[in-house]
Amino acid sequence: MDVGRRRGSIRRDAAAGADADRPRLDVAAVGGVPAAARGARCGSEFLGMGECGMTITIGERRNGVQVSRPAAFAPAETYDVIVVGLGTAGALAAIAAAERGLRVLGIERLNAMGGTGTLGAVVGYYFGNKGGLFEEIDQEVQRLSGAAAYTKAGGVNADLKKLALERRALAAGVELRYECTAVGVYLEHNEVRGLRWIGPNGPDEAGCRIAIDCTGDAEIAAMAGASYRKGRELDGKAQPFSNALVWINDGAVHTFYTDSGYVDVEDAEDYARAVLESACVHTHQPERFEERRKFVKLAPLLGVREGRFIEGERQVTFADFLDDKETEEPIFYAYSNVDNHGKDMAFESENQRDWIVAASLWGLNFSVPVPLGALLPKGVGRLLVAGRALAVDHDLAPCVRMKRDMQKCGEAAGLAAALAIETGVPLTRLPYESLKPRLLEKGCLLAANHKGMRDGQPSMDEAMPSIRWLRDEADIQSGLDGEKPGLAIWSAKRLGGAMLPSLRAWAAQTERVHLRRHSAFALALLGDEAALPALRETMRERDGFFPKTSRKYNQARGYAAIYLLGKLGDETVVPELIDILRSREAFKNVSTDVEFINHDDEYFFQYFTFALRALFQIADRHPAERERVITAAREIVDEPSFALHVTMKPSKDVNFDMADTIRGVVRRQAEAWSTSQRQRENRVAARPGGSDVTE
Ligand SMILES: Cc1cc2nc3c(=O)[nH]c(=O)nc-3n(C[C@H](O)[C@H](O)[C@H](O)COP(=O)(O)OP(=O)(O)OC[C@H]3O[C@@H](n4cnc5c(N)ncnc54)[C@H](O)[C@@H]3O)c2cc1C
Repeated sequence: MDVGRRRGSIRRDAAAGADADRPRLDVAAVGGVPAAARGARCGSEFLGMGECGMTITIGERRNGVQVSRPAAFAPAETYDVIVVGLGTAGALAAIAAAERGLRVLGIERLNAMGGTGTLGAVVGYYFGNKGGLFEEIDQEVQRLSGAAAYTKAGGVNADLKKLALERRALAAGVELRYECTAVGVYLEHNEVRGLRWIGPNGPDEAGCRIAIDCTGDAEIAAMAGASYRKGRELDGKAQPFSNALVWINDGAVHTFYTDSGYVDVEDAEDYARAVLESACVHTHQPERFEERRKFVKLAPLLGVREGRFIEGERQVTFADFLDDKETEEPIFYAYSNVDNHGKDMAFESENQRDWIVAASLWGLNFSVPVPLGALLPKGVGRLLVAGRALAVDHDLAPCVRMKRDMQKCGEAAGLAAALAIETGVPLTRLPYESLKPRLLEKGCLLAANHKGMRDGQPSMDEAMPSIRWLRDEADIQSGLDGEKPGLAIWSAKRLGGAMLPSLRAWAAQTERVHLRRHSAFALALLGDEAALPALRETMRERDGFFPKTSRKYNQARGYAAIYLLGKLGDETVVPELIDILRSREAFKNVSTDVEFINHDDEYFFQYFTFALRALFQIADRHPAERERVITAAREIVDEPSFALHVTMKPSKDVNFDMADTIRGVVRRQAEAWSTSQRQRENRVAARPGGSDVTE
């Protein structure tokens, strides 16, 4: 196929395809109006503000702020579904909906389908679950890859994936608009009625019965005024991004990326800074390139791992996973480990620190059933959000965002939209028993995808048995006594009070160091102060043991103990923790885990940040410590020359200065304490007699 000509005639081809080949909807099922006619009539009769007296507003984001205003809206075209963003999820959403016979418009701000998996050069699969429409498309890519004319490529050939997606979309009748950026959403009583975008035609608009927001960053939901969250609890910071490059290795096209830094997806200036810094400083490194490995280009789409997360009708959270709470109405199962990319684990949530720092369970994979409600933004009707912006929290997102699963997410959204339109039932009330057979039919939903927990490399995953939490005390003791204690630590935590007597005895004995210290870790996770002696000793020794629980990114026992001392609020260690902040020279990297810690500064960074966060946690519980803690922290971080570098995963040579992140954490803590101090003073002043009875 001549791609140039095909691109030039997308609109006409698609329309012809719609008339000729596309499976048709049962006319009765969509209210007796044929799809093509429905477009024109809806535009004037049902969606126009003037004729029907409906109040249409347009939601936009202007200068970074959501605004709504009344708008005249009489679109020339109305579609069943408009998909915004034809990336990993959006491409599949558009195809799945069109293959059910819907009239679908796809809007994409770049000039191809596939998003991060094609234009973003993320061509590999990392975990995620098999099954569904995406596998048919990947098989087509595989078939095309065999053709002699195509350059060989690693992973899923990005250019062939674009082609396979586009062919399939056009065959299904999807109308494509490239170089078109959605900039507004038309709403009637908080229900989506259409989209506005800017592209080669200038501003343009169309009506729709349902919109699917696959922008990766919930841009449409945000324009509509839906609530969303961004980043982690402590300071709102998201996962690091990567600026991926494409190169030729021994005659084949491959891609390469390390984490490049941080970006705020809501800030255009910051976005430009991130692109420029990562391109100029990290990515164009001549030493990476040689005769057999030639630079080709930077990927046109920045590799953003995390942006907005909608607040959904249902939330899918890490806390729920830890509490064994899961939906019984999954539309697909996500599957991965908590693939957190940050090096500043001390600033993550307590749940993540328990899991990844205290138990070193970074590498444990688990499946997460995702309900339809996690794709439905609260308070906005006729809108689905598919892709990485679905209603997960920052802690669980690294497990849910993998490409296979995001393609399933898009497919499920397309099928849900089709069912809602065919039956006239709102998305929020769609009966699961009607949707489920459609999801099962294509393999988007597979019972076998609910794998539970497994441990291993992506390539070995299918052969790995599922893992169960330990219940037998002897098994737990033996796990705690070894070099892979994570499963035993977490199993003991789950068993709770029943384990306390044994854990206390094991943490009190001194002959078996692993058993003593790992038992103390489990005790600390249970909030038991019998852990303190072993934790203090582990901290003082700067215990350099790295457990072997995970295949990589295990955490040193020395600073993990500091985390747990903070969790227990042990004020006796405050002077020692302040000393740690001041003793950079004392930290020589003794790491055996060269993937996580690559130099002395980075080793000190871990001790520094864990000590800082522990001090804050302790002083939260013991207000008398606040003044000396914040003074000590400020003395250090307010120094203009203060710098602390970490390497960005998985490189050993891309360094990033974390000083501003640390300063931000200190500033926030100081503000929080001074606010609570003021509130306490106000309360005291308001009390008769002015007594300060409680904190
Ligand atoms: C650097 C990096 C490495 C990764 N590595 C892996 C890996 O090895 N294996 C794995 O399985 N997963 C990996 N992932 C995760 C996975 O690739 C992503 O989570 C997933 O691709 C996100 O899919 P999405 O559909 O949400 O977003 P995307 O695929 O990014 O699609 C969003 C699309 O929306 C378009 N868009 C945005 N705004 C608008 C607008 N206003 N109007 C019109 N169009 C718009 C964009 O141009 C884009 O095409 C990685 C991610 C990153 C960033």
